[in-house]
Amino acid sequence: MKLTMWTYEGPPHVGAMRVAASMKGVHYVLHAPQGDTYADLLFTMIERRQSRPPVTYTTFQARDLSGSTADIFKSACQEAVLRFKPEALLVGSSCTAELLQDDPGGLSRTLDISVPVVPLELPSYQKKETWGAAETFYRLVRSFAGHGQRATDIAPNSCNILGPTSLGFRNRDDITEIVALLKGIGIDIRVVAPLGASPIDLSRLPDAAFNIVLYPEIADVTARWLQKTYGMPFVSTVPIGVGATRQFLADVRQMAGLEASDHGDASLGGTDRLTWYTKSVDSNYLTNKRVFIFGDATHAIAAARIASRELGFKVCGLGTYMREFARDVRAAALEYGVEPLISDDHLEVEQAIIDARPELVLGTQMERHIAKRLRVPCAVISSPVHVQDFPARYSPQMGFEGANVIFDSWVHPLMMGLEEHLLSMFRDDFEFHDNASASHLHADGAAPAALSVVASTSASTVADLVEDASWTSDAEKELKKIPFFVRGKARRNTEAFAADRGINPITVETLYDAKAHFAR
Ligand code: SF4
Repeated sequence: MKLTMWTYEGPPHVGAMRVAASMKGVHYVLHAPQGDTYADLLFTMIERRQSRPPVTYTTFQARDLSGSTADIFKSACQEAVLRFKPEALLVGSSCTAELLQDDPGGLSRTLDISVPVVPLELPSYQKKETWGAAETFYRLVRSFAGHGQRATDIAPNSCNILGPTSLGFRNRDDITEIVALLKGIGIDIRVVAPLGASPIDLSRLPDAAFNIVLYPEIADVTARWLQKTYGMPFVSTVPIGVGATRQFLADVRQMAGLEASDHGDASLGGTDRLTWYTKSVDSNYLTNKRVFIFGDATHAIAAARIASRELGFKVCGLGTYMREFARDVRAAALEYGVEPLISDDHLEVEQAIIDARPELVLGTQMERHIAKRLRVPCAVISSPVHVQDFPARYSPQMGFEGANVIFDSWVHPLMMGLEEHLLSMFRDDFEFHDNASASHLHADGAAPAALSVVASTSASTVADLVEDASWTSDAEKELKKIPFFVRGKARRNTEAFAADRGINPITVETLYDAKAHFAR
């Protein structure tokens, strides 16, 4: 075990809390020492939930260790049932309490509890938060959907959506978007779980024809169990990005026995603007931007696909902190010709980012901090989340509207970089200098100051030198990165700067020295 200042995932009982906090009528009794109640803050402070998560901690203290912590646990269970009147009780231990070996499942069986109890055994020292959430969801589904007989007359267009949870990255808005899309093509959605579902809803899962797994990290195990137990097939295409959303709708249509769409579905649940916006002049300037991607497996793989196929960026790094899904990320990395990074050590991720020299970082909150330190534009694409990843506005990642949100959140930081770059490069230009009036107003006698740089050299000498200026191929390449509408000015300013100093040929360094000079 290693102490760390920051971690991509919490212990597995935090995953169990995420599932309990997602559902209605579920209460979690967590055998945990006093300090472990910190986890509440994830929900109240980060997610801005209006109520505490439905968790009762036993909050035993050091002095309790000489007595019976098992009795403390039993009383906590009884009090939780009396006070919260849940439809189902989850029971388990936090990392520290696991060491006491009190066996919450066994203890709860000795109590006369009036509601179903689902014991959780989450090995805190081997597994992590997302695994804990997946296991908790699976245990709940097995407990409530594992005993019924499946009806024989199930409508083929009926389905369940599996995987969204509390604290998931944009899960709340993804569900709104995907439900609208599916309803638009005639799908009857029976249950969305765990987010918003009750234990009774879980018992109805087998009544739908098929399942849709939106977040494999949470729902893959459960969907496979439902397939094995009830023969329910599932759609596993994750609709992040325009292409994947189209594919997702095609897969759902096929599974529901609906005819394939021949007019496209892009007008459902919003309008696809990403496709057209990427063809704009501004976006073309961004082609081949180097992008480093790190996050949970689903969002990282989707981000690499969108970056490469829909925005024309170049993936220069791809990785995940989720070892359980390392194989999928490795396969994707192979596709983009990069070395996969499978690590939950943020220092290793930071070094990989430095080595890859990206122009854009897409990652978690930790990569956002790293990018900020390195002064590289960044957008958050995945959990772990921060308070700002729960925006007040509608902001999905999935579906066509999700693709629009992605376009904005990835491209705008790059445009901001572009504006700053231009402003500093042309600050002394008559149109751009600090005292210039706004370009849409008359200049009011503002004197063109652009050529002040050559004032110390006689006009004819400079003109001759500028005439002779030659550029190295690297410098020409770098110059081409500047948008065409100001490239001419950048060229002239740099050549004047080089001529003034007798520099020939112009190298990348000269270009940046000129930029720094004009930025002063
Ligand atoms: S022991 Fe477990 S629950 Fe307690 S602070 Fe550490 S990770 Fe969190």
